[in-house]
Amino acid sequence: MNPADNPIEVHDPTILAQARAILDACSTAQEMQEAVLKAVKRNETWRGQQCINLLAPEAPTSPIVRSLLASEVGIRAAEGHIGAMNRWFVGTKYIDEIEALCIELLKRLFRTRYADHRLMGSMLGNLAVYTALTEPGDVIMSVAQPFGGHSSNRPDGPAGVRGLKVVDVPMDPVELTVDLDLFRRMAPLVRPKLVALGLSMTLFPLPVREMAEIVAEWGGRIFFDGAHQLGLIAGGQFQDPIREGAAVLTGSAGKTFSGPQSGVMVWDDPELTQPLAHAIFPVLVATHQVNRVAALAAATAEMLAFGRALMAQIVRNAKALGAALHRRGIPVLGAHRGYTETQQVIADVRAFGGGLEVARRLERANLIANKNLIPGDTPADWDRPGGLRMGTIEVTRLGMREREMEQIADFIARILVAREAPEQVLEDVIAFREPYQTVYYCFEHGLPGG
Ligand SMILES: *Cc1c(COP(=O)(O)O)cnc(C)c1O
Repeated sequence: MNPADNPIEVHDPTILAQARAILDACSTAQEMQEAVLKAVKRNETWRGQQCINLLAPEAPTSPIVRSLLASEVGIRAAEGHIGAMNRWFVGTKYIDEIEALCIELLKRLFRTRYADHRLMGSMLGNLAVYTALTEPGDVIMSVAQPFGGHSSNRPDGPAGVRGLKVVDVPMDPVELTVDLDLFRRMAPLVRPKLVALGLSMTLFPLPVREMAEIVAEWGGRIFFDGAHQLGLIAGGQFQDPIREGAAVLTGSAGKTFSGPQSGVMVWDDPELTQPLAHAIFPVLVATHQVNRVAALAAATAEMLAFGRALMAQIVRNAKALGAALHRRGIPVLGAHRGYTETQQVIADVRAFGGGLEVARRLERANLIANKNLIPGDTPADWDRPGGLRMGTIEVTRLGMREREMEQIADFIARILVAREAPEQVLEDVIAFREPYQTVYYCFEHGLPGG
């Protein structure tokens, strides 16, 4: 089909046209399948072996977690709650066992009374929270995107789909946390039913306890969207939102948690169990991918054994990377607070051409990071924000420590500060990455040695 016949297209039309050309050049359907396999292989070699991945929401899984994603249970359909009377299908006795193990492992890890394993993503978890705990027209408060807020808690995401009125949580642009004094004065004026905390650009803990006390006055609750921080929380390296008074915690299992990409929800209050579980099934999730659940259970066991050591090193590496970049002349947010208490490092790259341009330049040298809004950016800056977000999950899991963060900062500074062409740095990045091909902090490979 001529692209002109289909002028409304959200995807890049050039890339779609290239795909059509590849398929047109195939003489059989099997060749078309081979084209898919080749693209997968190219990605595996490049991203899997030759890049330094600094994407903050990305984590390599252990071999066992990865292999479970291809396991036989992945072709079985199960929906509903665990137990013969709860299921529509029979034949689920071992699936019940897998799912129950997953729930009980999650409860053990997060020390909560309840956990849910069926969410395909954290985004869906947030929609489940809004479905269960709000009515259309309710007021909630959440953090705007330039301060790290995520679309799922904003008018343009699930919160908006639920028809909620969203008021901004006031943020302090220097301390990069909630302006608690302002919140104390503002919140009683709008009396939010829920306050969504937890950020995509997340450097420091948030005052959950204080805010929970403030909103309790009118029966309001804190909902902690710990998409990014889930592994840090599990590993005891961040604040503990549930113990600090949050009613419910959602998170992505594929970010710091280092499991299969999917969502997790935990909570303690028995009164929330019926509405939250009902919002998940039958409202938002039917067949919930049991292979993914098995992988999540296996990753949770890994977190029990290795979570503390892994998360501690992830944070040490992030602090080291932040300091190393700053010393090389790249401004890093939160310098006066030690740069970060998470896996993330946020550089202000406005002086180097902005986040989009910098991320693209670094990519040419196999350094993968993402553009990010930072305080001071406006919605008009959405496509070309001033920040660059980096994370240390993957490099840490490959066995790197503080020393290697200095080398990574060198690569970045050669391109941004010394203005070397990325292609000149590329070979050095590939050579540097080459010895780091094993995923540690798992039962197969243990802790990195030496
Ligand atoms: C990544 C993210 C999400 C979405 O998570 P998925 O698991 O990708 O659906 C939700 N909230 C925040 C704060 C995030 O950073």
